[in-house]
Amino acid sequence: MSLLEIEDLTVTYGTDDVRVHAVNGVSFDVEKGVNYGLAGESGSGKSTAAEAILGLLPGNGRVDGGSVRFKGQDLLELSAEERRDVLWEEIAYIPQSAMDALDPVMTCGAQIRQAIQKHRNVTDAKARERIRELFDIVGLDPDRINEYPHEFSGGMRQRVTIAMALALEPDLIVADEPTTGLDVVVQDKIIDQILDIQERIDSSLLLITHEIGVIAETCDELSILYGGTVMEQGSVDNVLVNPTHPYTMGLKNSFPEVEQLSDDPVAIPGSPPSLGAPPTGCVFADRCPFETEECTAETPPTVDLPNRNHRSACHHTEQAAQMRRDAADPET
Ligand code: ATP
Ligand code: MG
Repeated sequence: MSLLEIEDLTVTYGTDDVRVHAVNGVSFDVEKGVNYGLAGESGSGKSTAAEAILGLLPGNGRVDGGSVRFKGQDLLELSAEERRDVLWEEIAYIPQSAMDALDPVMTCGAQIRQAIQKHRNVTDAKARERIRELFDIVGLDPDRINEYPHEFSGGMRQRVTIAMALALEPDLIVADEPTTGLDVVVQDKIIDQILDIQERIDSSLLLITHEIGVIAETCDELSILYGGTVMEQGSVDNVLVNPTHPYTMGLKNSFPEVEQLSDDPVAIPGSPPSLGAPPTGCVFADRCPFETEECTAETPPTVDLPNRNHRSACHHTEQAAQMRRDAADPET
C-alpha cells in the first residue's frame, strides 16, 4: 500500500456558462519517503488536483469521480471535520501563494502556536520553544517569532508558512509552487530547506510546480499534466531523461536547466485546450507533431512502457521515442 493513492481523479468547476473539466482521470501513487513531482503548464490542473486531494476545492469545484486514499483510507469519504484533522496531523499543505495567506493582524509565532495547540496539548512555553526551533530550522531568526507578517520579506513569509506546515511533523508535505515568485537564490534555499526538513522527519513530498528543473533536482518520480490529463509519468530518470511523450519533449526543451534533447528546441505551437469544451481523443493532439486521425478519435490509454516505472498516454510513443534517439545521435 502506498502512502497516497490517487485513482482516476476527476474534478470539474461550475461557472456561469460551462463546466470546466480541470482534472480528468488522473492516477498516481506516492510511496513513503518518496518525493513526487506534479508538473505542467499554467492551467493544467495541478492546484485543482492538490485541492481535491485535500478537500479544499472552492465552492464551485466538485469531485466527479475517482478516489484519494491516504494510508488506505479514502479521504473523499471523510467529513470536512475529519479531513481537517488528517490534514493538520498527517498531511501538511503549503498552498500556492502561501506567503500571502498569513493573517496580517497576528504575529507569525501566534499563528503557528494556534496551529500547534489545536492538535497538541502543549503549554504556551513549550509551543514557544517549538516555534523558535522551527524558525531556526527554516533559517529565520528565532528572536523574530513575535513579529507580524508585514515585517518579513516575501521569501521569509514563505519560510514562516513552511515552519507552520511542518510544526506537527507530517507524513506527507504537499507544496504548491513553494518557490514561484521568489528570486533564484531564495528559491534554492527554500527547496534545500524543504528537502532537509523532510529528510529529518522522514516524510514524503508532493511538489507541485511548472518548473521542471526544480522537479529534476528534487524529486524521484513525477507526473506530467496537460489539460487536466496525465501525459507521462514514472521515475524522473525515465520521464525527463528518456521522455516518450511528445508533450514532455516539448516541455523539456522549454526548460534550459534540464539537459536538452537537441540544440534546436521543439517549440510547441498553439495554445492549451479549452477545458470548458475538451476535445475528443488526445487533449494534446492539435499541438502534436505526430497527430493522426486516431489521436482525435480516441483518447490514448496510459500504458506501461517496457522499462520499469514509466507510463505514457500517447498513440505514437514509438515514433516519439525514435525522434528522441535521432535527435540525440543524428549519425545513426
Ligand atoms: P497554475 O500553474 O497557473 O497555478 P494550475 O496547473 O494549478 O495552474 P489550476 O489552477 O488547477 O491550474 O486550474 C485548472 C483549470 O481550472 C484552469 O483552466 C482554470 O482556469 C480552471 N479553474 C481553476 N479554478 C477555478 C474556479 N474556481 N472556477 C472555474 N475554473 C477554475
Ligand atoms: Mg496552481
